Amino acid sequence: MKKIGILGSTGSIGTQTLEIVRSHREEIQVTALAAGSNAALMERQIREYRPQAVALWSEEACRDLRDRVRDLDVKILTGMDGLLEIAAMEEMDALVTAVVGMIGVRPTLTAIEHGKDILLANKETLVTAGHLLMPLAREKQVAILPVDSEHSAIFQSLNGEKKSQVRKILLTASGGPFRGRKRGELEGMRAEDALQHPNWSMGRKITIDSATLVNKGLEVMEAKWLFDVELPQIQVVVQPQSIIHSMVEYVDGSIIAQLGLPDMKLPIQYALFYPERRPMEAPSVDFYELARITFEKPDTETFRGLALAYEAMRAGGSMPTVYNAANEKAVSLFLDHKISFLQIAEIIETCMERHSVIGNPHVDQILETEQWTYELIDGLRL
Ligand code: NDP
Ligand code: MG
Repeated sequence: MKKIGILGSTGSIGTQTLEIVRSHREEIQVTALAAGSNAALMERQIREYRPQAVALWSEEACRDLRDRVRDLDVKILTGMDGLLEIAAMEEMDALVTAVVGMIGVRPTLTAIEHGKDILLANKETLVTAGHLLMPLAREKQVAILPVDSEHSAIFQSLNGEKKSQVRKILLTASGGPFRGRKRGELEGMRAEDALQHPNWSMGRKITIDSATLVNKGLEVMEAKWLFDVELPQIQVVVQPQSIIHSMVEYVDGSIIAQLGLPDMKLPIQYALFYPERRPMEAPSVDFYELARITFEKPDTETFRGLALAYEAMRAGGSMPTVYNAANEKAVSLFLDHKISFLQIAEIIETCMERHSVIGNPHVDQILETEQWTYELIDGLRL
């Protein structure tokens, strides 16, 4: 029996993970769950999956939840202490990190410290703390299993091959809802327009990140840390049908890819059962119906988010944290209709310009840099 915890159990990745668990109850047990404030859904999840402990970030939601499940024997925790306690639970083998944003940094590191395998969806943690996380995972001999579809595809395409024979990683991108548009056309785009992703149904933040191509920028950094490759070895290829989830090119020019319909359950299930592959009741690609798969170069002039990610990565140290934190704040301002679509990348760029890089930052410095970035944005005249 595999015992898992899920941080972000009420979100898009979290609920899909639990759906997979539902059909494999004899093999996977849910030990712990955590979320932000959705007490109603957390109650339903507790009643169905019977975890030993759960955490809600919001204290108010936590009080509400305690009331709702008074009849059950479940430990209810709150705040960062709650997330950390869950991350360290002795009874748990693996932790699915499906919270959104840098809130995942400390719980993920704590889980690794305690020897838990990580099923990693929360890319913001790897982007900001990859230099701490990857060596710690090696030291503690825990597996970091990618849940992000592109990284799962790369991971699958590397199976049985020698890392020294990899020439490059071809990271595919759908291009998002605004692919093909120019800056002038993007000026008036509202959150409602950006939330319409053509292929994937995901949480709100990552859907906006897909529209700005910041998501692809974060994924380039994620790939660098996960697969230990140099930046010039990662090439982003736009593949609008989202059928090829990514590819690896080897020294002889051979390219190995993983294909499938755009459905996050596939990479989630692969990570849950790795190294085994389990059947899945879902439609598969019909190539006659699909007829063609097309490719494009990403437009980094219009979608500055991707170009800035390469700059942040080249600068290194605390700069990826500034890139990520500025984006997190800018996306929430955009979702609240306080800034325009194009201002997201402008804000990231302004923050990066004003930052003096801290080399090899430790956790506190990463979190201070996050705070510094938020305060800088608060002081900007937007
Ligand atoms: P959602 O917005 O759908 O879900 C976020 C989850 O995090 C919710 O359970 C939410 O709880 C919880 N949460 C938010 N704030 C806190 C907090 N302070 N403490 C504890 N829990 C919190 O996000 P997604 O599922 O879309 O994305 C999750 C992560 O996975 C992101 O890093 C994203 O980039 C990555 N990812 C997502 C993909 C997708 O298809 N969705 C694909 C690849 C990667 P509540 O509901 O209570 O607010
Ligand atoms: Mg992805």
